[in-house]
Amino acid sequence: ITDKLAALPAGATYFSLEFFPPKTAMGFSNLRDRLDRMARALRPLFVNVTWGAGGSTATKSLELAEICQRELGLTTCLHLTCTNMSRQLIDKALEDAKALGIRNILALRGDPPRRAEYRTTDEPERSEEEDFAYAIDLVRYIRKTHGDYFCIGVAAYPEGHADESHPLGQSLEHDLPYLVEKTQAGADFIMTQLFFDIEAYEDFETTLRQHPSGAFKDIPILPGLMPIQGYQMIKRTTKLSHAKMPEALMARLDAAKGDDEKVKAVGVEIISELVEQVKEIKSRTPGPKGFHFYTLNLEKSVSFILEKTGMIPPGTPELAEATLAIPVPPTL
Ligand code: FAD
Repeated sequence: ITDKLAALPAGATYFSLEFFPPKTAMGFSNLRDRLDRMARALRPLFVNVTWGAGGSTATKSLELAEICQRELGLTTCLHLTCTNMSRQLIDKALEDAKALGIRNILALRGDPPRRAEYRTTDEPERSEEEDFAYAIDLVRYIRKTHGDYFCIGVAAYPEGHADESHPLGQSLEHDLPYLVEKTQAGADFIMTQLFFDIEAYEDFETTLRQHPSGAFKDIPILPGLMPIQGYQMIKRTTKLSHAKMPEALMARLDAAKGDDEKVKAVGVEIISELVEQVKEIKSRTPGPKGFHFYTLNLEKSVSFILEKTGMIPPGTPELAEATLAIPVPPTL
């Protein structure tokens, strides 16, 4: 990823698309076709494959990563969580990734170990065998065992990470010292939790860029955006992610409530506006402007957003033809 970024012209926009491994063979077959179509039509700089906490989707995540990297030739970033994962499992995941030709890892903590309700601080409970407590342990471990072989990304939360056990509650202030450490331990890029509140994102990016440690001066920061796929779904997502939905945006979604297609169309408008606002914020710092889309394995909304915001990079005539296969965004 860092090599590809270095080759982009200053000020260029780029994006990544995130997918999770389906549960069934039929799901894999459908997703493979969709990925192929999306890759040709949308030309992401890279794709992300999620990892189930504790390694619960290890086999399927690697299977999907193989489809992306090997079969479709896409630059793939494999997510890897570290809590509830033994060192042996981490070693195996990294070796498997290497064997597939994967050079990019998003190093994450994952869900904290069970029985969190018994803890009084945000220190995840460490068992005797547990080698990793926080994402930084994984970043350090990958650098120690694999040097610079992997390009490493880490997660950040514009509105603060929501751990129930935080003594200070959810805040960027609480996370910042750890994010500095994570970055200084060798992270190459930062991807954020989804958000809808542009002011929160602007504060976040400004705080990072101006941080006295200098840790975030040049590091690529990819804001995470999730296309809106339905009214109930967005209610659930904002609750789970603890991302604030500004009242004015909620009012637009409320007005479309009851008509799924309209909610999606309003969602395309809202996320496209966010993209343009983030572009504006990012134009204050040099370097390419990156975005990360949580696709939920769906094709249409993200295609509309990328089309509307002019983010699909030009391709060969053959690829341009594939782009035409994307349906025209609905007008409101
Ligand atoms: P950390 O960086 O370890 O931070 C976790 C919390 O601990 C933060 O509140 C931080 O402030 C605090 N902290 C960090 N270090 C210390 C320390 N030394 N002492 C005290 N407190 C500390 N989850 C999955 O299971 N699979 C995925 O594929 C996945 N993909 C994701 C992709 C993105 C872009 C993002 C933003 C999140 C993703 N997650 C995924 C969710 C993530 O695993 C959870 O949010 C998790 O609870 C935190 O992970 P982290 O890597 O941010 O943890």
